[in-house]
Amino acid sequence: MIIIEPHIHMISRTTDDYTAMYNAGIRCVVEPAFWQGVNRRHPGTFFDYFALSLDFEHTRAMRYGVDHWSCIAVNPKEADDLPLALETLEGLGPWLDHPRCVGVGEIGFNRITPNEETVFQRQLEMAKERDLPVLIHTPHDTPEISKKKGTARILDILREFSYDPAKIIVDHNTEDTMPLTRQTDYWAGLTVYPYSKLNPRRVVDILRRWGLERVLVNSSADWGVSDPCSLPKTATFMREEGFSEPEILRIMHDNPLAFYSQTPKFQPRLDLPYIDPATYQR
Ligand SMILES: [Zn+2]
Repeated sequence: MIIIEPHIHMISRTTDDYTAMYNAGIRCVVEPAFWQGVNRRHPGTFFDYFALSLDFEHTRAMRYGVDHWSCIAVNPKEADDLPLALETLEGLGPWLDHPRCVGVGEIGFNRITPNEETVFQRQLEMAKERDLPVLIHTPHDTPEISKKKGTARILDILREFSYDPAKIIVDHNTEDTMPLTRQTDYWAGLTVYPYSKLNPRRVVDILRRWGLERVLVNSSADWGVSDPCSLPKTATFMREEGFSEPEILRIMHDNPLAFYSQTPKFQPRLDLPYIDPATYQR
């Protein structure tokens, strides 16, 4: 089965990960822009990171038979530094117009602050101007922050902002937020993590309850404890749980293809050869 991974941070992963992903059937990935562990202090640091994702990572992935695409944005975690975020947005346009940028993301909320909201709204506008898909990060549950509240606020903002709901995905849903997201026409993302977030069992239960339409499952793997092969593992679990091959294919391939194909820039190559690392030179 050919798998398209719609949300993963490959910049943080190793060449062994690429090999394992290729061997497990992953042929295409989309990398949204996110926090790198240290808050950036300059717009140029964002821009260099975008170049890394759009150009270098794409070339690196290709050697392992994986077609790598990017979403570009000022992420919600760093949006609270409003002067820096706004200065960065002034220079964001050319990066969104890059031929390998297939969406605006991740945008949304981290601590649900007014600054985050300003940066979220501005980037929604930029996506709409370019007719690009939008990937929305919902906040994590913490003692101070409620994921459900953050998701409800995101949906309120989207309701006022008229943009084709088919072009928007609200990501990192849980059993708590699915009833909110499914009341709308936006896509819903489900993230499979080894410990936190969802596991394959919970994903399967959510899919049974809410169906397979407008759902993307992803690993969101990054530099934390996460698994770039979450999707093939979820496919195996779906098979054990009695889902049919067309249903599994729909989640692993058809849905992500349909979502990102809403921009004509997305022309995935799913037949790239895996090049034996012993045969190429740096
Ligand atoms: Zn992410």
